[in-house]
Amino acid sequence: MDHFTYRSGVLHAEDVSLEEIADAVGTPFYVYSTATLERHFKVFEEALKGLPHLICYAMKANSNLAVLRVMVRAGAGMDVVSGGELERALAAGCAPDKIVFSGVGKTEAEMRRALDVGIRQFNVESEPELRALNAVALSAGRVAPVAVRVNPDVDAKTHAKIATGKSENKFGVPIARARAVYAEAAAMEGVAVVGVDVHIGSQLTTLEPYEAAFLKLRELVGVLREDGHEISRLDLGGGLGIPYRRSNEAPPLPFDYGEVVRRTVGDLGCEIEIEPGRLIAGNAGLLVSRVIFRKEGEGRDFLILDAAMNDLIRPAMYDAWHDVEPVREPAADAPVGPVDLVGPVCESGDTFARQREMANVEAGALVAFRSAGAYGAVMSSEYNSRPLIPEVLVSGSRFDVVRPRPTYDEMLGRERIPGWLE
Ligand SMILES: *Cc1c(COP(=O)(O)O)cnc(C)c1O
Repeated sequence: MDHFTYRSGVLHAEDVSLEEIADAVGTPFYVYSTATLERHFKVFEEALKGLPHLICYAMKANSNLAVLRVMVRAGAGMDVVSGGELERALAAGCAPDKIVFSGVGKTEAEMRRALDVGIRQFNVESEPELRALNAVALSAGRVAPVAVRVNPDVDAKTHAKIATGKSENKFGVPIARARAVYAEAAAMEGVAVVGVDVHIGSQLTTLEPYEAAFLKLRELVGVLREDGHEISRLDLGGGLGIPYRRSNEAPPLPFDYGEVVRRTVGDLGCEIEIEPGRLIAGNAGLLVSRVIFRKEGEGRDFLILDAAMNDLIRPAMYDAWHDVEPVREPAADAPVGPVDLVGPVCESGDTFARQREMANVEAGALVAFRSAGAYGAVMSSEYNSRPLIPEVLVSGSRFDVVRPRPTYDEMLGRERIPGWLE
């Protein structure tokens, strides 16, 4: 459920009309609903109720400071994957002991900073990383709390670019080698083993891959404990999918995911950590764009929008589907027809949807892309010298710009012409 609904014929974010926001900030823009973000967090809290747990929001899905602050206030920890994300988590007010650090390529500088602020846990993805972390911790006079990310060789049955749990993926240590890695870690003075970590992919639409991965994890925990390691935390990653196509998709609910967690690893006496990103932010955001032209092509019509692939790259990168709705509610008997939704960027890949059946809209109309709150603004660029678009946060009847649109001067002002070219 989200908080984007038609009221008196105009699509609203909570109590705010999208037309009002468009008038205030121009188009295109992203808009996020506080109530939806909070609701999604709460749904996970309820799914894990009774189990000791920490929900670490995977902030790579949407790392706007205002969104992070909403999550921090709700009680979330953070899953970060870079030094920049670590600084964002801290700036948003996240307690360091609620921050876990994932990623295959942490640099020594990133490790050092994370040790200095005292993060909760490093999710270590390889032996070279483990050795580097040990060395950095020793030189800093600290001990790094570590979970080793294991790769369970499970097919997440999702898009190839976001599957991470098969042996051919770059992520984690092959589960067959985990014992050896834990033995090496236990002998190190600079690291302390605290748990085991797994994350098998994103936009999962069935629970079976989770079940398979968690059962392998369960077996591993038994083996590691027999080897004398203290395993007190299980980080189960994120990845639960959302319905991008509301008419015919119904991915599993967090409650049922929670039941799988209980059934597979709930009795191990471990604190459970999960790292949802997309499910928290995805359906809490829209991309709103204006139709520049309606163009009749050879046998097909194009809606040329002022948003483009640089603003929302998911259709071009993952062949992703986003539901698109006119901001002015179409009459029940309005004509419906197929149309191609495209942006102004000079690439054929700058196509949001082909032959999409939707109510007729004309030049000047506003349209809203649903499910754009995750992997939207964070993946945007200024390709074609299109300035980053604003992000707006709504809460009830209030809204505020949480990232303004840069002016052309600001965009150009970040670059320099070297002296010898002047
Ligand atoms: C991307 C990622 C997540 C979040 O995935 P979602 O599909 O957005 O829930 C969690 N953990 C790790 C390690 C990730 O890389």
